[in-house]
Amino acid sequence: MEDLDHRMNVAVIGAGWAGMAAAVALAQEGIPVTVFEAARHLGGRARSVAMEGVDLDNGQHILIGAYGESLRMMRAVGADPDRLLLRLPLALEYPGKFHLRAPRLPAPLHLLAALLTAGGLTWGERISAARFMTAMRAKAYRIEADMPVAALLAQHRQTGALARYLWEPLCVSALNTPAASASAQVFLNLFRDALDGARANSDFLIPRIDLGRLFPEPAADFVRASGGAVRLGAPVRSLDRTAQGFVLDAAAERYSHAILAVGPHQVDALLDRFAALAPMRQNIAAFVYEPIYTCYLQYPPQVTMPQPMTGFDGGSVQWIFDRGRLNGISGLLAAVISARGAHQASSQDVLADAIHRELGAFLPGLPAPLWSRVIAEKRATFSCRPGLVRPENRTAVDGLYLAGDYTASDYPATLEAAVRSGMLAARLVREEQR
Ligand SMILES: Cc1cc2nc3c(=O)[nH]c(=O)nc-3n(C[C@H](O)[C@H](O)[C@H](O)COP(=O)(O)OP(=O)(O)OC[C@H]3O[C@@H](n4cnc5c(N)ncnc54)[C@H](O)[C@@H]3O)c2cc1C
Repeated sequence: MEDLDHRMNVAVIGAGWAGMAAAVALAQEGIPVTVFEAARHLGGRARSVAMEGVDLDNGQHILIGAYGESLRMMRAVGADPDRLLLRLPLALEYPGKFHLRAPRLPAPLHLLAALLTAGGLTWGERISAARFMTAMRAKAYRIEADMPVAALLAQHRQTGALARYLWEPLCVSALNTPAASASAQVFLNLFRDALDGARANSDFLIPRIDLGRLFPEPAADFVRASGGAVRLGAPVRSLDRTAQGFVLDAAAERYSHAILAVGPHQVDALLDRFAALAPMRQNIAAFVYEPIYTCYLQYPPQVTMPQPMTGFDGGSVQWIFDRGRLNGISGLLAAVISARGAHQASSQDVLADAIHRELGAFLPGLPAPLWSRVIAEKRATFSCRPGLVRPENRTAVDGLYLAGDYTASDYPATLEAAVRSGMLAARLVREEQR
């Protein structure tokens, strides 16, 4: 692409968090960028959805303090994480069954203290958890051969309440894959950064505003203000490379580089003109996906949970978020069900009713909801299984890069993996300029 380098002009396809991170990183360097997004809204799988007159999200999201690049990107586009995210020290609460709270001590003492003072564990379990932590630390959080999280837990006798209320919920929330089939190595990577990094890395960061305003919308403003373009309702149906550059559909424009920032199940359709990419396409086509269901239930304003985020077990719901405590929408609860399960067989009405009854067992006298709505994201993330091979950002086609939460990373499919991937794709493009 030698003759094009002096007039770099990058097409980013997909305006999820990865695509917008790539576009911002390029715009920061003064590189002309055009973002093409099929939908009429930004944000992809982490987007705002208008519902019953309020801006909510397609799914309740949570960040953690270790998401350094996401926080840096937010700051870069003027979205102040300290104002827009509620920062809570690591705490897990299963009312009447289990609770763990990290005191404000330096890491990893905060976690050791949290484990040793956790309610709902026997002394034996507390000591066993502390031993597991020190054993993983001694191995620098690396295992020789990847295995399911459940197998790693069994090897280290992390059973009973420890598995049920601590490790398994952390695993399914972070990897969106049940412990029985989730990658222990990816789980340990997060463990390393979140639980054994700086103390603030383990904080939960819960959005106070809808996801669109958290990053994708300010990011689009930033790109436009830097001279770039963001086109919504602009699906790209074909991609090709000619001697003059990349061609999107039959458009006249040519781009020196293309960053494909669509979801893993959407990428294949855009690669069929590139024979060299056949092995990579086959690899991505073999990905298995996990759903995430979010059920919003609007109760009268006096209904509230004791915590912004409460763990549930025994039914279908895993976490309840009290949006009244988070976004000031009193009486609105968001119930989250990560990964596959029996709930997928229910109709949305039946599921919402079952969730209302699960909540009723915890909040006696709970009135009927004023409205409820289930958003089922059937391919929320890839299933993060042991040894999964994820594609690199750089492809076998010159000038063509992938970005997205599914590209090679030591993190599972998360906002942070998406943002890091977008930034890396932008860096690879920039490096070609030098
Ligand atoms: C319900 C739910 C809850 C989640 N909870 C969390 C959480 O708590 N914490 C966390 O860190 N992560 C969470 N995640 C994961 C996180 O949302 C994703 O990892 C992240 O949003 C992926 O971003 P992406 O940019 O890689 O892909 P996407 O968001 O999928 O973006 C791809 C974009 O490309 C567009 N596109 C596709 N094809 C074309 C085309 N041909 N032309 C133009 N545009 C196209 C799509 O419309 C989309 O906007 C959750 C996901 C879901 C669904």
